[in-house]
Amino acid sequence: MSVLSFTDQYIGGKWIPSASAETVEVLNPATEQVIALVPAGGAADVDAAVAAARSAARAWGASHKDYRLEFLGHLVTKLAEAQPELVETVVAELGCPVGFATAVQAALPLGVAESYLRILADYEFEEQVGNSTVYHEPAGVVGAITPWNYPLHQIVAKVVPALAAGCVVVLKPAEDTPLTARLFARLVDEAGFPPGVFNLVTGIGTAAGAALAAHPDVDMVSFTGSTAVGRQIAEQAGRGVKRVALELGGKSACVVLPGADLAKAVNVAVANVFNNSGQTCSAWTRLLVPEEQYAQVLTLATEAAAKFVPGDPTRPETRVGPVVNAKQRERVRGYLNDAVGEGARVLVGGPQPPEHLPTGFYVRPTVLADVTTDMAVAREEIFGPVISVMSFHDAEDALRIANATEYGLAGAVWAADDNEAVAFARRMDTGQVDINGGRFNLAAPFGGYKGSGIGRELGRFGLEEYLQTKSLQFRV
Ligand code: NAD
Repeated sequence: MSVLSFTDQYIGGKWIPSASAETVEVLNPATEQVIALVPAGGAADVDAAVAAARSAARAWGASHKDYRLEFLGHLVTKLAEAQPELVETVVAELGCPVGFATAVQAALPLGVAESYLRILADYEFEEQVGNSTVYHEPAGVVGAITPWNYPLHQIVAKVVPALAAGCVVVLKPAEDTPLTARLFARLVDEAGFPPGVFNLVTGIGTAAGAALAAHPDVDMVSFTGSTAVGRQIAEQAGRGVKRVALELGGKSACVVLPGADLAKAVNVAVANVFNNSGQTCSAWTRLLVPEEQYAQVLTLATEAAAKFVPGDPTRPETRVGPVVNAKQRERVRGYLNDAVGEGARVLVGGPQPPEHLPTGFYVRPTVLADVTTDMAVAREEIFGPVISVMSFHDAEDALRIANATEYGLAGAVWAADDNEAVAFARRMDTGQVDINGGRFNLAAPFGGYKGSGIGRELGRFGLEEYLQTKSLQFRV
């Protein structure tokens, strides 16, 4: 297969040669083959992109929302037309199964982008508070740094509300998935946005990402990724007194209280973790069940896990593909080996590579039993297809275990009725909880408590992250 070779960045409304001759290799995680080379941009590309953004900031920021709506409407059309190409790209560079890539990886961000057309149309950028007029004004130049797990969604969830708010953006996407980002830039270009409103610099985190996060002319950094890097970005932003939005890791709990529909809860939880090979920050990686039902849950989880056989992501029947790269595969296997060493029991899967897949960054979807709160698998984000089953004595014990991590991104509660589940969910230190199988809502705020981050994405809340307020006082 031929290797695509790109040497350009999208800056100031044009594809221009990168100032860097270095490249990043893009691998297909299912074949381990290099499929493309993209520029490993550095400080020079970031400087050019930030300058282009700055020169576009005032006009775009001062524009009427109807003007911005027109371009965003074109972008939604382009995203809809490009769905097959987006799916193909995400399957190739992430190894995501084509079914999930179609239903979620490509369709979800289209839905998010569409939702912002309505949100922007309804949003009042000016309001009266007593003798003051309050203006909601754009934050300015936004540096957006995104991860690879939902390559298009992570981009859309930042860039679209930022542009809707009147901000201009420089995007530094993850080095593992730059092809989706390049395709997104092409769609922005085709949508005809004014030059400089959106810019793309591909490159590695410690060079392009660090240069963008530290750039003195960036007004706000919006970052999604690991807690370690998020912490560095927050420190830097603190020194520069810059706005920052952070979507970091998670170690979410799915709590099944006595009287809940056990079979349904376990089936949904296993799918929630194994989809996207467990590479979902909000995945319910800890399944908390009453000790009286523990044995029954282990049987149900084993049955549910059997439906997730890893395979070729281009085949429609495949439900689990590889993880994104060799480093992640080794990381996940390391966690599994440590868990076994600490006394966890492998019910399904385990650290050994799947025998039927000698090539590709595959990990066996794994169900661990007898996991306790002191084990690393119960505290740290694994980012692989691993679900840990833990038992509790009563609801207080369940709450203690659920809250016993540094994270607080998402979670689920299953109970005999919604009221009981809501009462429990209100006591969880976490930003989002699904009640008795509640459906994902792309207009609801998404973001973390505690170490899972600062700020919210999606819906009106996601738009407001990119706004700052000014008030003018009048004589009474
Ligand atoms: P990462 O934090 O290293 O990378 C995320 C983004 O930040 C990428 O674009 C990367 O290039 C950039 N980056 C890296 N170092 C940087 C720096 N010093 N300054 C500025 N930008 C930098 O995450 P990763 O290595 O891709 O994944 C590692 C772990 O992060 C995963 O195992 C998982 O726990 C977590 N993760 C979380 C999410 C999430 O949605 N919350 C998504 C992906 C990964």
